[in-house]
Amino acid sequence: MGSVMRLEHIGIAVKSIEEHLMIWRDVFGFRVEMIREIPEQKVKVAMLDAGTLTIELLEPLTTDSTIQKFIERRGEGLHHLSFEVDDIEKKIEEFKNQNLKMIDEVPRKGAHASKIAFIHPSSVGSVLIELSQKDKK
Ligand code: ZN
Repeated sequence: MGSVMRLEHIGIAVKSIEEHLMIWRDVFGFRVEMIREIPEQKVKVAMLDAGTLTIELLEPLTTDSTIQKFIERRGEGLHHLSFEVDDIEKKIEEFKNQNLKMIDEVPRKGAHASKIAFIHPSSVGSVLIELSQKDKK
């Protein structure tokens, strides 16, 4: 077994980040770390500092965005859990050897991490899991 994963953030799919900031920022009092559009992933992302973890709000930018499709199928709500790992390529290999289905067999660039990869929810009881590796400083 490799190193232990750490829950880093929770992704929540929303129709409008602006609208939901009225809860997460204004009512709950979490500080917004960044809001950014990521056109190549067809999402707008807001990251909020919620103490021991980060809350990520995901708003679709286009009608063919995977977030848009998620909201149409299941409504707004919990979208994924993101675990930080030390060596993402190694973890992907490890999980493939355990017969987990990977959405990304090769890591891609993330909004807030240098590399991310998703495990298919069919392998994890319908929970979408994101693996992320931070930039090495
Ligand atoms: Zn995420």
